[in-house]
Amino acid sequence: MKEYTYFSAKKLTFIDQNNETQQVPEFVTRSAKNYRFNHVTNKLEKKCIECKNYFEVQLYENGKFIDIHDEEEIHFYSEKSGYDTRCRKCKLEKASKEPNTEYQLEKTEKYQLENKLSADNIMYIRIVAAIEHMDEEQCLNYLLDLVRKTNTLTYDYKRKLN
Ligand SMILES: [Zn+2]
Repeated sequence: MKEYTYFSAKKLTFIDQNNETQQVPEFVTRSAKNYRFNHVTNKLEKKCIECKNYFEVQLYENGKFIDIHDEEEIHFYSEKSGYDTRCRKCKLEKASKEPNTEYQLEKTEKYQLENKLSADNIMYIRIVAAIEHMDEEQCLNYLLDLVRKTNTLTYDYKRKLN
């Protein structure tokens, strides 16, 4: 039996121990060529686009995928978006080298943010996220927390919400 199954937009299945064809988790479809399935360990692995190392992110057991990733190795975004394009080490290196240049958002996040935020705000979030070593979601919450804790507006929330 082969050691790995590599995926692509057209190849999103693998053969399990029972010789049955199985689908990969939904998030793999967003970045299929950076995932592979290891048939020896029964683990799904994600490749860092920078250092090209693979990181074990999910274990395939009893017909299900279980998250086993280490946040110190690679960041998990969500069931929808999956795992980071870069491992944690490369992400930190990149952020420390280029604190003031454009922060690379994952395509999916960029798409989501650009539908909701102005270009100026997206740029600001990228810069703060890079400097503070956060992902965009953490950064957005961090900035809102700051505003919420320090704003001096008198504002009738209840009335406005109704
Ligand atoms: Zn890396």
